[in-house]
Amino acid sequence: MQRPRPLLANVLVNRCPACREGRLFQVRNPYRPRTINAMHAACPACQADFEREPGFYFGAAYVSYALTVALWVAVLVALYTFGALGWITFTGFFDQPEVFLISGIVTLVLLLPPLQRLSRSIWIHMFLRYGDRGGTSEEGKA
Ligand SMILES: [Zn+2]
Repeated sequence: MQRPRPLLANVLVNRCPACREGRLFQVRNPYRPRTINAMHAACPACQADFEREPGFYFGAAYVSYALTVALWVAVLVALYTFGALGWITFTGFFDQPEVFLISGIVTLVLLLPPLQRLSRSIWIHMFLRYGDRGGTSEEGKA
């Protein structure tokens, strides 16, 4: 049998946490507004349950929040780095807050669809382990 994809790579490519083969989302392109969050109800490859319970993906909002904070920090670090390298004129956060705001908002809007999918992928990876099969992993154990 072929070795499974490493966990981190699997999270990033939005594949099923249980078999690491089936896709989480119905449409590959995250930039189609109507299908950003369109997920399969169950894994097309192993039938692992992706809907687990009503409102399961509300929790992904916490992950999304953390990713968004990380994105803003990354934008600030990038601005300071590019400023230090002389590629842009950025003298500091308190001197030019508008540069930081505009850069952050543009980056966030551009990356919002993949970030939204990534947060759902991280969220379901927290509840399904490699090797779990069909239905929720907790049902049989209680
Ligand atoms: Zn699967």
